Amino acid sequence: MDKTIAVCPGSFDPVTCGHIDIIKRAAKMFGQVIVVVMTNTAKRPLFSGEKRADMLRRSLCDLPNVQVDCYDGLLADYMRKVQGTAIVKGLRAVSDFEYEFQMALTNKKLCPEAETVFLTADAQNMYLSSSIVKSVGSMGGDIRDFVPPPVYEEIQERLVNSRKEDIL
Ligand code: ADP
Repeated sequence: MDKTIAVCPGSFDPVTCGHIDIIKRAAKMFGQVIVVVMTNTAKRPLFSGEKRADMLRRSLCDLPNVQVDCYDGLLADYMRKVQGTAIVKGLRAVSDFEYEFQMALTNKKLCPEAETVFLTADAQNMYLSSSIVKSVGSMGGDIRDFVPPPVYEEIQERLVNSRKEDIL
């Protein structure tokens, strides 16, 4: 039995088809994958951590070796807690590289047991980000091709409600 545990960390606010592609590919490479919703102090999220995790669970329910968790702390501490083998990250373009390289080296220093593994984004998801989904959705654009079906309605409802709040 494959006992390797990969952790896919991110803010997933909301999860996009780009994230889902990376998670599915990681699920083929490792025995178990834990998708962990983290707090990014530099960003003000649209969805709560629990809601982001709930949307991930509904989008990944067909993958038996994938679990979703939330963690409010250092990734290095989480890796030790779950005895993770690898941190799996997606790379879209050169612009992602510098930040991801810095994070990988920092995590290696804080948790030498875990290796960071980079998967290249699928060509058709190269341009996709949670921020693009939120901007397009908030201006009434069609985001159906950008997010997994179970989360489409959730996002629509939230964005429509927030537009109503802006108007009131
Ligand atoms: P962050 O809060 O660090 O920006 P995200 O939640 O946006 O994290 O993303 C989590 C991980 O998913 C990161 O490794 C990021 O590079 C990757 N990712 C984001 N969007 C895509 C995409 N369209 N294709 C492939 N990987 C992606």
